[in-house]
Amino acid sequence: SAKKSGGGTFSFFTDDLRREIAARLDIEQQMVLAIASQDFTVCFQPQVSLSDGRVTGLEALVRWLPPDGKFIPPSVFVPIAEKCGLMPAIGRIVFRKAIAAAADWHREGLEFGRLALNASSSELAQPDFAGFLFKTLKAEGLPPQRLALEIVESVMLDDEKTGIAATLRTVRKEGIALELDDFGTGYASLTHVDPREIDRLKIDRRFVHNIDSNSHHAQIVRAVTDLARGLGIGIIAEGAETETELSLLAGIGCDQVQGYAVSFPMPSDNMREWLATRKVGNRNTVPTEEPEA
Ligand code: C2E
Ligand code: MG
Ligand code: MG
Ligand code: MG
Repeated sequence: SAKKSGGGTFSFFTDDLRREIAARLDIEQQMVLAIASQDFTVCFQPQVSLSDGRVTGLEALVRWLPPDGKFIPPSVFVPIAEKCGLMPAIGRIVFRKAIAAAADWHREGLEFGRLALNASSSELAQPDFAGFLFKTLKAEGLPPQRLALEIVESVMLDDEKTGIAATLRTVRKEGIALELDDFGTGYASLTHVDPREIDRLKIDRRFVHNIDSNSHHAQIVRAVTDLARGLGIGIIAEGAETETELSLLAGIGCDQVQGYAVSFPMPSDNMREWLATRKVGNRNTVPTEEPEA
């Protein structure tokens, strides 16, 4: 610690900070190796229509099990990967694996709507982002009309400087849908919803969770649903965990949902099985828990 180090040396780091930095360097190092060996995997979580039970989409979610066997959730490693510039490389592994799986299901005639890929601004700012996406779709045999990109509102803020706006227009022109993720948590949300540029809003799960006990959140979900309807764009509620939440959402008129109440995210084999055996109208084919990896 700073106190113990004598002899004229002075440390700016406390032991806690030192440990934190060491842990972060360790994660960074492991991520570099995991990129080289394509160790990142993908889970899929279904999105369904409440009115008819149809599957309208599958969100691809990155998973990482480091060699030490201790699962690290994306909420922890994605921000670190963003800080050290590794997210574009990780994103490409996820895109390739998710598109390959979805292309198989497409060939098998399994109906899943669109594959939804999360794309951060550092990924979208790569000059060859659109080129990579089109090339991968073509190589795997998935039509662009079967794909959606989930972006957060803040991406729309600095899009002009980084060329992201042009990239988004390019991919959308080819039939890829654009969706605003975590809607309601950013700034000046309304100004970012241009129906000429956006196909669907995803209401953030902090508003969806507990809508039965939090009337303020219920009103927000209702307002966002009405907004989407008025603009003629799609709406989906994420993070619905209970039957009560599902019926409240249906009552509000929010047609599409994604959440544990429908299914946990699952590895591709389970996802395929779920799609193949599912009967429309039967929402709940729920695995008991999400496998770690
Ligand atoms: P997100 O894009 O908003 O993804 C939805 C998150 O909500 C996922 O967490 C999902 O597992 C979780 N979730 C779904 N239903 C429920 C529910 O009913 N209750 C609760 N409590 N949670 C639910 P996950 O997989 O841990 O991912 C966290 C975030 O990491 C994502 O949030 C996204 O921002 C980021 N992320 C994940 N995969 C990727 C990726 O491939 N690329 C990029 N750039 N970011 C990713
Ligand atoms: Mg998302
Ligand atoms: Mg989200
Ligand atoms: Mg998020």
